[in-house]
Amino acid sequence: MDNYRSGFVTLLGRPNVGKSTLINNLIGEKITITSPIAQTTRKKLKGILTTKNGQIIFVDTPGVHKPHHRLGEILVKNAKAAINGVDIVIFVLDSSEDPGRGDKYIKDFLEASHTEFIVALNKWDLVASEFKNLRLEQYRRFLGKNKNFQIVSASEGEGCTQLLDMVFTFLPEGPKLYEEDTICDQPLETLLSDLVREQVLRNTREEVPHSVAVKIEKIDAMKRKNGKSFTAILATIIVERTSQKGIIIGKKGSMLKIIGQSARSNISKLIDAPVHLELFVKVVPNWRKKESRLIEFGYEEEV
Ligand code: GDP
Ligand code: MG
Repeated sequence: MDNYRSGFVTLLGRPNVGKSTLINNLIGEKITITSPIAQTTRKKLKGILTTKNGQIIFVDTPGVHKPHHRLGEILVKNAKAAINGVDIVIFVLDSSEDPGRGDKYIKDFLEASHTEFIVALNKWDLVASEFKNLRLEQYRRFLGKNKNFQIVSASEGEGCTQLLDMVFTFLPEGPKLYEEDTICDQPLETLLSDLVREQVLRNTREEVPHSVAVKIEKIDAMKRKNGKSFTAILATIIVERTSQKGIIIGKKGSMLKIIGQSARSNISKLIDAPVHLELFVKVVPNWRKKESRLIEFGYEEEV
């Protein structure tokens, strides 16, 4: 490719197909949180990849929380918002399952709205080798045989370079829109808070619903006695009920310890430094209904 290219790319797909995992892999940093629970991604987050060929700004879209009868309607509404102003859409599919109703809604919408899109057939590592040919045929039929698509495994990294090459061919020539070393448009606090929230969701599953927020109270650069530096982070996990607080803390603090250790390890990777993470749990009844609290915990409404 001769000239520098830049543009916006959004990933569309049913919940849990691996959109956030794919963005993390393409960017090479864990900036967007992933979990087996739908609606993990709450905010629109832009991830930025700068290479010698160009700059891609990925827009991650919040997952869909599905009342089943309205699935189609909601997927389409989300899709409409997500394709606004982007240069190319990556339609992400989960190859470990048959193409489903939700996939069809999205495909029909993209075609009806004449949106240019390429397909990432994800989770290829989960398809047993004897079924791989069959699966491929099935998805080719679903997509129409001339469709641009790339087999990937977002969690393993397979096919990601090829997918990026394909994306670049769809971007217009243009300058860098963000500084070279920017990887995310969100402040560090948001990323850190998400990394803690991710571990709460992953480790407590259904027991603690989506009424969890994490507030980063303090980030301090510190030095140990031996001269080694580290980052001290103080965060509060906010829940709505005392029973939820109990679950998050666990027996003798065992759950909070697990949450803290995993979050710390991910934070440490993100900021590339040793981290000391201190977590507190606080009950704020009905925080989701209070405007001031929503803003305090970082959930201003987005348009
Ligand atoms: P999103 O809702 O589309 O953003 O999906 P996530 O990125 O949160 O991923 C949902 C789940 O699928 C997580 O548990 C991921 O670890 C898992 N996942 C994503 N991509 C792959 C993949 O290529 N292979 C496997 N085995 N799991 C994946
Ligand atoms: Mg996601």
